[in-house]
Order: sequence, then structure tokens, then C-alpha cells
Amino acid sequence: SRRAMVAGNWKMNGSLAGNASLLEGLVAAMPGHDRIDVVVCPPACYLESVGALCDGGLLLGAQNLADQGKPGAFTGELFGGMLKDVGCSHVIVGHSERRALYGETDEVVAAKFRLAQDNGLIPVLCLGESLDEREGGQTETILARQLNAVIDHVGIAAFETAVIAYEPVWAIGTGKTASPEQAQSAHAFLRAQLAGRDARIAALVRILYGGSVKPDNANELFGLEDVDGGLIGGASLKAADFNAICAAA
Ligand code: 13P
Repeated sequence: SRRAMVAGNWKMNGSLAGNASLLEGLVAAMPGHDRIDVVVCPPACYLESVGALCDGGLLLGAQNLADQGKPGAFTGELFGGMLKDVGCSHVIVGHSERRALYGETDEVVAAKFRLAQDNGLIPVLCLGESLDEREGGQTETILARQLNAVIDHVGIAAFETAVIAYEPVWAIGTGKTASPEQAQSAHAFLRAQLAGRDARIAALVRILYGGSVKPDNANELFGLEDVDGGLIGGASLKAADFNAICAAA
């Protein structure tokens, strides 16, 4: 069976002092989370300082990486190898905020996925439909397009060491979560897409759910057959909430 994972995407939040107290609360609870992988993804400027506080098996992830294969003249960008160098094991790729606000296309996301792996990082590939797409009956079309764009670029074998996060855009930061039926159906669909290429890999890829996961809904979501943990935004900024979510995984 698949090892669960809970990752905290802090987005553009944090401060040196705030991070230190948050990490203190997370590290204290780590002995209780030995059955799962727990990852924190702070803003890039805090990766090193947060990494130095990541005790007890807590893992470090970045929120984004450059779509460039080599370091060089790319002002403001972060080469994947640099993220690895400062202690990251994971990197979020293709978050809907990157897609919607910073113009990341399926092609850019696929390139970043490959560059993450080329640099020894585990990509956490985010995908999900918007409200319009869901209401238009396009959910599976969108999920298939987003996933297949990456599979076609890197090959199915690359998913053996990757994580997927299903994040319906309408559930992100809105307090609305996918119903258990909606979540299970999307996760099962994604797994079936993978299985169409390779059944063995499909069975081992972890598919996280993201979108307004809170302590009071985590149990139900994480209990679903094809939900292997969560990618947590707002609730990852409070130690008590994030720890409770980890305990539910
Ligand atoms: P919220 O948990 O704040 O809805 O954010 C989800 C998310 O986008 C995680 O990447």
C-alpha cells in the first residue's frame, strides 16, 4: 500500500520569526508521524533557514523552479540544482496559481517536472479543473490533458518517483472542499489514466488532494481509496492544524 504524504504549501507567507515558531510546533509532533512523509514548502528565501530547523524527518520542498536546464543569465529564477543544494527533496510543479497568474502552460509544467527529476528532486505535480470547467462537464478532459502533457514529455516511467496533487481550483482557499465522491472520482480517474500506460506504476503513485483541507475534513478525505494524503495551503500555517491533518493521514 502507498505511504501517505502531507505537504504544506505556505505560498507567499512567512517570516523568520514566524517560521521558527511554526517549525518548533511541527518538529515536536514528528515522532507521531513516522508512518507518513511530511513536507514543508516555504517561500524560496526561507528554504535554507527552514531546512536547518527540519528535524525529526520533516522534509523540505520548494514551491517552484526555473524552466531552464542550466544556471545562467535568468534574473530572478531558481535552478533546480540550487534547490537541491540547499536541502530540498521535493518541489511543487504546476500549481494552479502558477498556471493562472504566471502563465505556466502544460508545456512549461512538463519541462519543470523533468528538470526537477534531472536535479534529484521529487516533483509534486499539481493539476485540477476550474469551476467553469467542472460546471461545463469538462473535469476529466482537463485532468487528462494536464496529466498527459507531462506523461508525453517525460514518459510514464518517470512517475515511479513522482507525486501528483489533485487540486480543484474552485476549492483552493475558498473553504469549499470537493465532496468525497468528487475527490475519489477525480483521483480514480487520474490513476486510471496512469494505468492506461503502466498498471504497476499507477498503483504506486501517490495522489494527494488539495483544496481547503482542514482538521475537520481531513479524516474523510484521506480515508478515500485513491487519496494518499494532502497538499495543504492555509491550514499549513498553523502548527496545531497542520499536525492534526498529518495525524489524519
Ligand atoms: P488551501 O488549503 O488554502 O485551500 O490551498 C490549497 C493549495 O493550493 C495547496 O497547494
